[in-house]
Amino acid sequence: MSEGAVKKEEKPRKFQAIRGTRDLLPPETALWNRVEQTAREIFGTFGYGEIRPPIFEPTELFARSVGSRTDVVGKEMYTFNAAKELFTFENPSSNAPSPEAADNLGEFVYRIKDGFEKGDIPPTESNKQAVDSLLGKFSELVKVSQQLKPGFWQGSPPFLDAYTKLDAECRAIASKIRLGESISLRPEATASVCRAYIEHGMQQLPQPVKLYYMGPMFRRERPQKGRYRQFYQIGAEVLGGTDAPAIDAEVIEMVMTFFEKLELQGVQLDINSIGDRNCRPKYVELLRAELHKVKDKLGPDSQRRIDTNPLRVLDSKVKEEQSIIEKLPRIGDHLCKECADHYAAVKRELDLRGVKYRENWRLVRGLDYYMRTTFEITAQGLGSQDAVCGGGRYDGLVELLGGPLTKGIGFAIGEDRLILSLQESGKAPVALGRDVYIAWMGENARGTAVRAAKTLRNAGFSVELPPVEQKFGKALGQADKLGAKYALILGDNEVTSGEWTVKTLADGTQRKVSEQQLLDSLQKM
Ligand code: ATP
Ligand code: MG
Repeated sequence: MSEGAVKKEEKPRKFQAIRGTRDLLPPETALWNRVEQTAREIFGTFGYGEIRPPIFEPTELFARSVGSRTDVVGKEMYTFNAAKELFTFENPSSNAPSPEAADNLGEFVYRIKDGFEKGDIPPTESNKQAVDSLLGKFSELVKVSQQLKPGFWQGSPPFLDAYTKLDAECRAIASKIRLGESISLRPEATASVCRAYIEHGMQQLPQPVKLYYMGPMFRRERPQKGRYRQFYQIGAEVLGGTDAPAIDAEVIEMVMTFFEKLELQGVQLDINSIGDRNCRPKYVELLRAELHKVKDKLGPDSQRRIDTNPLRVLDSKVKEEQSIIEKLPRIGDHLCKECADHYAAVKRELDLRGVKYRENWRLVRGLDYYMRTTFEITAQGLGSQDAVCGGGRYDGLVELLGGPLTKGIGFAIGEDRLILSLQESGKAPVALGRDVYIAWMGENARGTAVRAAKTLRNAGFSVELPPVEQKFGKALGQADKLGAKYALILGDNEVTSGEWTVKTLADGTQRKVSEQQLLDSLQKM
């Protein structure tokens, strides 16, 4: 029988981006770039510098800052323990000595040694001892196994006993090695920025330190319009210095300026104060007590939140709950004097800057670290996922992460949603057009064409130079499809006469231009 008849034709798997992730492609990426470029420019005018923190951090950093009982940390993080996966020894048939079991153990010991040398296993003294004694035991085991002749694995009692004992000892030592800690893909970046502020002693710099970032975030949420598992945020943080209300107002002013510059439509800014360590706990208790009284009328999510996070009940979009929530005590009536004064001053400062806002007493944030000023911005065209920006003050977060007492405020913009909203309102660039398409024919034209492409590109024109010769009709069709503004026609006639034919594709007009004049004339067109 021939090979072909035995083997079934296997279709190669067609790969697709993982659910909740996606490819961003041209021409859409041009809009992403414009948005990011605008952010850099606007934030720059407010004195912010860029920070690029890593994509993964210790899980504990997020658990401590975002809050271990929040949805983000509790259910949505991509968490893994790289060391554990690499160095866990799984071998179900391990107890029966066999050449295969010995090989497996050998490979495992080698991984441990390598992991320790590379620093993937924390270089502690006790780990070093464990690795050393593991290597010692393993070389004893190798010696013993060499004396077990192949085929004698089932017999030869004295050696087998020694082997079994050493094998068990190796496993016992390996289990004492403390592996690296759990790490997570970042679900947000504020915690990382605070970690970096502490790690690099930024409190020594002139305060406040103003930083912005942009990049991917990861949350295991149910994917839908405007909600992805890998999504992008553009955010900024102000750390250190005072908590003067003007800082809160300026941060908000900056986001609003950015959105204005992008001509984002239907922008609505909601603000609130959620109190501080003095007044919020008392309010939360009051709210919890009131919620317990109406518990039966609430849905399961809200019922659960009465105990875990009663503020989040205010966030509920469940229709039947709305009239109940409206009657609940409002935080505005329970702020301590300092918080009430601060909030009033933030509003005055916003007025001073001409920033329009709506007060929304039900605005709370899903992350634990916020206090006092909180805000959210919505935009049009996004359906139920219409929040494009969330932010607020988080004095005390740096301290919570082991740093000095530090004031902090910041925001995060959902870039995917921002882009969606811009596209919905027709603010997106339509297509990625070429400026110039060079339609050349004949070996004589080639050198001139290459030279012209170089000159024009150096001057900033986007130039398409076909790699192989094609008939003029086809070339012009291609130029049209690519959205080129001009076609430069160069055939034998043109080479002989030393003049290009420049065709404006929009109206079909043509003119002759000498090679020397080509750049100049295109720049004037
Ligand atoms: P939402 O209530 O919409 O889930 P959130 O309170 O979880 O938002 P934040 O953690 O404050 O959001 O993040 C700030 C912004 O990041 C949001 O306003 C939103 O624009 C965007 N964002 C959050 N989660 C996602 C996601 N899974 N996909 C796309 N954008 C997101
Ligand atoms: Mg969310």
